[in-house]
Amino acid sequence: MVVIHGKRELDDFLQPHRLKGINVGFVPTMGALHAGHASLLRQARTESKLVVLSIFVNPTQFNDSSDYSNYPSTIEPDLELARSEGVDVVFLPEVKNIYGDSAHAETSDYGSLTRVFEGEKRTGHFDGVVTVVRRLFNIVQPQMAFFGEKDLQQLAVIRHLARLEFPSIRIVGCPLIRDADGLALSSRNVRIPKEGRVHALKLHEALLNVAQAADTQNSIGSAVEANRKALSENEHIQLEYFDAVNGESFEVLKGNEVPKGAFAIVAAVVSGVRLIDNCRL
Ligand code: AMP
Repeated sequence: MVVIHGKRELDDFLQPHRLKGINVGFVPTMGALHAGHASLLRQARTESKLVVLSIFVNPTQFNDSSDYSNYPSTIEPDLELARSEGVDVVFLPEVKNIYGDSAHAETSDYGSLTRVFEGEKRTGHFDGVVTVVRRLFNIVQPQMAFFGEKDLQQLAVIRHLARLEFPSIRIVGCPLIRDADGLALSSRNVRIPKEGRVHALKLHEALLNVAQAADTQNSIGSAVEANRKALSENEHIQLEYFDAVNGESFEVLKGNEVPKGAFAIVAAVVSGVRLIDNCRL
């Protein structure tokens, strides 16, 4: 496994592989790697000849500066995990490598997809995500890129970006990985205090209730409403949204129909940590 910091160095390393037509699979991350990231790397390993992992905490996608400055960094264990998952190249750029002297995001307006839910609650977030992924795609030039369903709306936004600007890159969505108790794995979970975990788990429970209503052909609309109400009345949870949506367009489901590709989604702050989660219906 090689660790590369510079853009040019990475290009020099990749160019001979590109000339040989070697299939490059790319997994972009912000580090503090866990089993969710490992599952993306494993999928990339099985589907591509050369696996490139990037670790870059992207300043332009944080709408909250304290979230950025408190973002966990665990480079040594990250490299260990990458090695054990058979990663070939770790790209560890600095902010200057990606942005030059001014870390600014370009605006990306994909209609309601970039305006609702995460787009609404985290102003500018998707501008930052699209900007960094565009730059990373141009640097790495992969054939495939792997993203987790954990960040479901981000996955839809990236699919849109690829359709518009990188039609030759296949975007692979990978299943959401949970801890044994059901909490969706996230690098930010280390910031949840022990006593907050039981409240954080309520988010997953509420999603499961909606999935169960969908399975049993019960009224999904009333299941969404009842669970949204319960979460919003929980004094330990600051609910931002709870809904059932089309997982591509993020349009809210209407009536009691549950089309293919529908998900229940949630975002909330628990013990000062913002969490998102979802469940396929
Ligand atoms: P992050 O480092 O949080 O930016 O995430 C990097 C990639 O890992 C993104 O594509 C995420 O969706 C994915 N990811 C993060 N957590 C999980 C998880 N629990 N299950 C599956 N994928 C995940």
